[in-house]
This record gives sequence, structure tokens and C-alpha cells, in this order.
Amino acid sequence: IWSDVLGYVRKNISEVEYHTWFAPVKDLGVQEGSLVLGVRNSFAQEWFRKHYLELLEDALRSLGAQHPQVSFQVLPAAQDTLFSPADAPPAPSKPPPSKPSSSSGVSAQDPSENRKRLNPKYIFENFVVGPNNNLAHAAAMGVSESPGKAYNPLFIYGDVGLGKTHLMHAVGHYISERFPDKRIEYISTETFTNDLINAIREDRMTQFRNRYRSVDLLLVDDIQFLAGKERTQEEFFHTFNALYENHKQIILSSDRPPKDIQTLEGRLRSRFEWGLITDIQSPEYETRVAILKMNAEHNRIDIPQDVLELIARQVTKNIRELEGALMRVVAFSSLNNVPFSRAVAAKALSNIFAPREVKVEMMDVLRQVAAHYNMPPDVIRGSGRVREVVVPRQVAQYLIRDLTDHSLPEIGQFFGRDHSTVMHAINKVTEQLGRDQDVTAAVEVLKRKMQGLEEDDL
Ligand code: ADP
Ligand code: MG
Repeated sequence: IWSDVLGYVRKNISEVEYHTWFAPVKDLGVQEGSLVLGVRNSFAQEWFRKHYLELLEDALRSLGAQHPQVSFQVLPAAQDTLFSPADAPPAPSKPPPSKPSSSSGVSAQDPSENRKRLNPKYIFENFVVGPNNNLAHAAAMGVSESPGKAYNPLFIYGDVGLGKTHLMHAVGHYISERFPDKRIEYISTETFTNDLINAIREDRMTQFRNRYRSVDLLLVDDIQFLAGKERTQEEFFHTFNALYENHKQIILSSDRPPKDIQTLEGRLRSRFEWGLITDIQSPEYETRVAILKMNAEHNRIDIPQDVLELIARQVTKNIRELEGALMRVVAFSSLNNVPFSRAVAAKALSNIFAPREVKVEMMDVLRQVAAHYNMPPDVIRGSGRVREVVVPRQVAQYLIRDLTDHSLPEIGQFFGRDHSTVMHAINKVTEQLGRDQDVTAAVEVLKRKMQGLEEDDL
């Protein structure tokens, strides 16, 4: 029954969550009416009790259990390899290879068929909007409100992992909810190419054309792969025209703007430029934190803000990697049975982001110093001149100079002072190192903490 339970669970949680938590579980059978699951450590046990007990009970209920009971057993420690679940991130679930529907023609197809290929997580509600993507987001919303009328085609470009596919699917979901009868087709350019090749080989061109030319919304992902494929370009050109003339909405994504796609026929390029071209950039720090926060909430992970901030500083370019980093931190702390902390996160990420040091910002340092001395950051940055405030302020300035790349004038500005004051502070702290016990301890502790390398935290 465990495999049935897993089947149920898998449908109800994310792929990453499933691989992180459920894949390593050992089925210990049913004992005294209770399904017994072997987990790796007490942290995992707690985690399951807190987050997945209900889900597991639901799963058992769905299998006919009247009074479902689940219990956990911590397995004797095997040599846990760190990272095992997260090291091999789950392959993105691919749609089953599309069998050519040999029997019926297009007209008999249920319009909801194609929609099933949309990823249920890629909806507008799960899309964090920031300055990096707000234009693309607004355009996608516009197209969703009035498909075929607002901008046609909508062309979204940007580097890998920045949300192009997510946005396209979001439009698909939105339109399919509002207009259940609309036919929606989402395909990658590669699928389009392969379908075409098969259609040619199997002499099914009419069917192929009907299929793509009868949709109401065509979403074509990674259109840059049209480059150099003449036959596919030719066919796509006709598909495009047929849809366009009938005011059917077309959305295209690419890793670059049309003008930069080499060996793309001029007539296709100009058509891609007929509508609206919009880009997605790398997310800013705040957007990255917001995305992590949303992800943590969705996956029911209770993780402190400062840990999310550390992850957001480490992974800056690719949202898929950002999500992967979060899962890695979760897996790491679970497998090592330690609570989340910045040090743990830094450690968990040190393998992937090895040579790069943890990036520390002025505000981070100030906050850490403030926490160490147990006073508000603003007081440290304020104008107070009593020793209780002056020492932390000097320590903060010393650490910022030591741990960041900021210049003396920049640090001065941050504290509302000039650079000579900062210089004085740094000299002062340097003098006291090794002499004044409190200052020495503060500097050492804080430094280790902010470099995220504190072994004791593990
Ligand atoms: P692309 O198609 O540009 O390579 P994806 O759409 O596949 O990127 O996005 C990669 C991952 O990042 C997906 O899991 C997606 O849900 C997530 N993602 C991207 N942009 C956002 C965003 N603005 N808010 C939340 N998640 C996002
Ligand atoms: Mg994509």
C-alpha cells in the first residue's frame, strides 16, 4: 500500500518536496493497524508529524482506511551521505511522449486535453512581480484579459530560469479557466519540430496542420531553436499566419530578441516583431527574497528570514537555481538534524557556490553587531556618544571594512559620518584587538558568524 500512498502524496505536493522528504522514507509495513514509516532522524520525524501527517492520513483514507494511523520510526543511523535527496534534483516531470492520436481527427479532441500539459504550479498567483519582470507580467495579463486583441504575438525573452515558461503557462491557465472551450496548445519549439518530422515521415501533414491551426491560444517556448531549421520555419510561418489572420493569440518565448536569432527568416522575424516584445531580467535582491519566501510557504517550510536573505545573496541569476538552493538548505539541515541558521545555509551551499565567499552587506553587519550587543541598529548608527554605543559602532565599522568591499567614505555615509571618523574607529578597534577582551571576542564571534563558517553551529 505504500506505493499507493506515495502515488497519492506525489499528486498533492511539489516534486522537490516529494524528493526531499518522501523518496528516502522506508516502508516498514503495517503494525497493529498503523502504517509504520522509517525516517532518517528525529528531525525528519518531527517534520513529518508537523507537515505531512494529515496528508498521509488522507492518502490512507483514499485507499479505504476508516481510521487511518501513521507512525514513524527513526532508522538506525546509516552512514548518511549528506545531500542525498537534493544532490540529484528531480528531473522536471516531462509529459508522457505524445503518441500521435491515430484514430480520431482534431475535431474530436477534448479542448481540455492540451491544457493538461500546463504545469499546475505555473499560475499568476505564484508569480512574484518585481521591477525585473513587471512589463512582461503586465503584457501577459493584458493578453489574458483580451486574447488576440491586446498584443499579438506577445514575444517574451530573457535568460534561462527567469520565468518565461511560468508566465506562458499562467496565461494558459487563466484563459482556460475563463474560457473552458478554448483550445490551448503549449509546445516547445523542439516538440513542434519533432511533430513536424514525424508528420512528414508518416504522411500526416493534414492532421499536423489541423492540429496547430485550430487552436485559440498557441504558446511556443524557446523559439530560438527555430534557428537554422528551414523546413520547420516554413511550416511555422504558415501556422503563424493562419492563427494571426483568425485573431488567435500567439505567445512566443526566446532567450534573445528576434533580431538576435541568427538564421531566422526575415519574414518570420518581422512577424515576431508585429506585436509586443518584452523582456525579463534577473531579479533584484528583494524579489529574490520574496520568491524564496513564497516557495518556503508553499512547501510549508518554516525558515527564518535571515536565512532566506543569505540564500538570496548567494544565488542571483537564475530562479530555478534559487529554488534549488532553498531545497538544498532544507535537505542539509534535515539530514544533519540541525535547525536553520545562516551558518547552516552557508555550509549547505558551499559546495555549489564554492569559491565565492558569503557576500556580506553593510546592513547585515550592522544587524549582527546590534544583535550581539543587544541594542537596536538605529541606536548604533545614531549620534549617541556614550561608551555603550560608541564601542559597538566602532566594531561595526571595523567589521564592515573587513568583510565588505566598501570604501571608507561609503561606510562613513552609511553611518552619517565622514571617512576620517571611520578611519579612527578602525584604528581604535585594531589597537584593542588582543588587549580588550570584550572587543576581541565580539570581533571574532561576529566575523565567524558572518562568514557563515561557524562549525559550532552545525
Ligand atoms: P524560463 O522558462 O525563463 O527558463 P521558468 O519559467 O522555467 O524559466 O522558471 C524557472 C523557475 O523559476 C520555475 O520554477 C518558476 O516557477 C520560477 N519562477 C520564475 N520566475 C518567477 C517569479 N517571478 N516568481 C516565482 N517563481 C518564479
Ligand atoms: Mg522555459
